[in-house]
Amino acid sequence: MRERGLVHIYCGNGKGKTTAAMGLALRALGQGQQVVVVQFLKNHATGEIKLLEQLDHIRIFRGKAGDHFTSSMTEEERKKTRKIHEKNFAHAQQLVVEGKCELLILDEILDAVAKEMFEEKMLLSFLENRPPFLEVVLTGREASPVIRECADYITRMEKERHPLDRGIVAREGIEY
Ligand code: ATP
Ligand code: MG
Repeated sequence: MRERGLVHIYCGNGKGKTTAAMGLALRALGQGQQVVVVQFLKNHATGEIKLLEQLDHIRIFRGKAGDHFTSSMTEEERKKTRKIHEKNFAHAQQLVVEGKCELLILDEILDAVAKEMFEEKMLLSFLENRPPFLEVVLTGREASPVIRECADYITRMEKERHPLDRGIVAREGIEY
């Protein structure tokens, strides 16, 4: 087990944040480490998640209410989604406490916080009190200044081009 875990932020408007985080999950698994992933604002498994779910030493929690983007959610769906996020986060926290997680990936948590679908103070208090060995990855478009304060790595994926701008829609095995 590593002595000192650090905090990563993958942010920005370019492609590559979630795939970078999952690449790190593979790297840690390959070294025999235990990994936990919580995906916020998502209920469908993308290609890499389907594969990771078949492996040992990794636990993945995901979910939201309904199939709408946050902006089109009903108040009921927003409430349910917040509850699902809290429950999934609590499962992850439990595994951390039990010493069954060395790398924790909180995918899209920055967007969940920005859209008030997860409480920032819950994330901050977790980061402040985490066990020293735990490595944490946060992804999403933007991190608030207080969250940035907690990070050791901040990597920004900057969009120079994205094919959606030319009308090329999401492709299987690439975008999902
Ligand atoms: P990936 O999951 O491919 O690593 P990501 O996590 O960086 O991408 P998200 O912001 O989570 O990107 O968005 C998820 C999907 O939206 C991805 O399929 C990605 O290709 C696409 N996407 C990312 N950035 C943009 C953008 N600026 N314009 C349009 N689509 C985007
Ligand atoms: Mg993503």
